[in-house]
Amino acid sequence: MRTFVLTLWYSPSLEEVAVNERGPQSRETEPSTWPGTHIYRSLGLHPTTATPNTQNRARQNNSIMTNVPGLEDLFPGAKETPAPATVYKQIRQRLTRLTEIRHLIRMDGENPKLLVYAIENLEELCQTWTHLASLANIEFRLKDMAAAQLDEETRKAREWVLGVITLQEQLCERSHFVRLLRSALEKDPGERTDLESLYMTLTEEDPDDPTERLDIAYTLVLHFNYAETYKSILEKAQQLSARKSKASEAHAKKVRKRIVEKAQSIKVDMFACAVPLSTIRSAQNEERDCPVCRNAYLDFATFSAGDLLADYAVRIKYCGHVVGKHCLETWMDTPLIDAARYPDRTCPLCRTEIEGRETPDLPRGLREHIVHSRQAGELMQKTDLETDECLDVLLRLMSEEVAVGALLEEAGEEEHGQVDVEMAREFLKERAEELREEKKMLGFARSEGLWRGMRAEWVDSGVKR
Ligand SMILES: [Zn+2]
Ligand SMILES: [Zn+2]
Repeated sequence: MRTFVLTLWYSPSLEEVAVNERGPQSRETEPSTWPGTHIYRSLGLHPTTATPNTQNRARQNNSIMTNVPGLEDLFPGAKETPAPATVYKQIRQRLTRLTEIRHLIRMDGENPKLLVYAIENLEELCQTWTHLASLANIEFRLKDMAAAQLDEETRKAREWVLGVITLQEQLCERSHFVRLLRSALEKDPGERTDLESLYMTLTEEDPDDPTERLDIAYTLVLHFNYAETYKSILEKAQQLSARKSKASEAHAKKVRKRIVEKAQSIKVDMFACAVPLSTIRSAQNEERDCPVCRNAYLDFATFSAGDLLADYAVRIKYCGHVVGKHCLETWMDTPLIDAARYPDRTCPLCRTEIEGRETPDLPRGLREHIVHSRQAGELMQKTDLETDECLDVLLRLMSEEVAVGALLEEAGEEEHGQVDVEMAREFLKERAEELREEKKMLGFARSEGLWRGMRAEWVDSGVKR
């Protein structure tokens, strides 16, 4: 049965038969038939599985082996000089086709169907693609292999090709793939590294069906035994991925801690929100200062960005008074003079109650968004925060984002005389990045438009003076 399958599987041309008859040693004396050479050189892999020929080449390129730790090993570099527009166009098209493949793999899920072939199907698969130049003129490696080993080989090939595609997507930036594809496009097909050939196969225009392109790539991997030759690519990617997920979990923990601290220290964000920069700029002179401490909201000459941010102008939604946030928070902590008669605090500027009353309406859709958000659900589960607390944090983030944005814009203006605002800008940019991370964890990772709409609604809501 098996002999029958393997005979049909691959029918060598006359030339190939001639090569094969010289025996397995012929491969080592003919570098052109060994596919691993280029990628081997650029990756600097340990030569355990290489032929003597590639070992020599690796020794000549010893500097590459020692100079590029980590990620660069997975992607050989290409020229940094600008390429012609036609090359970029081809790269963009190929990246789109690569996205289709990744989508396919992600969708494969728990009951995998991709590249799961019975030995009988492999015959058909390999025959389908034998016309490809990359598969021509090679001795068929799997010939005469025992069934159990063949099983093992196909499993390994599948794991390798899916693993490499998935992990490289996780680990590498778009720019890495641009470089890889560009490097491949600017070479003759015969000069390409194996990794380049693989990614070219995955992103070819023909066949149009990504499943078929993946099948071809798999056939390549199986034929040339990349799973063994480039075992270390997968291993390295797995290591880097584990390291990365460890680091990103540590980082996520920090972000969660910040969110919890914000939730625990909220005093005014449910009824007061930062005003836009234009409001301060267009205000009368005295309204550019906090009415409590008399410091100017935008005075980069006297105050640090941190102080300005802390006491940035917020509008109380019940009465419309604008006060420095820090001063308003301090006011909320000040003991009441006659708590028995007047148990609730009022605005420091007028007699409007700001405590002990119903809070203003949330932006429309905000509660629904957070209730249905997977990220917010995960956050609540990991931190014990309640939905209402998360909503308060979101209001706080909206306010802080307006304040950071306003101060950044003000610091960006070139009218600060001798004042060096570079440090202030750096500080504010870091805060902006933190806000982005916190927002993401609260369910606004990919909904910037929705977020901006809700933020605008919140900034505008309430009484204005
Ligand atoms: Zn103040
Ligand atoms: Zn007031």
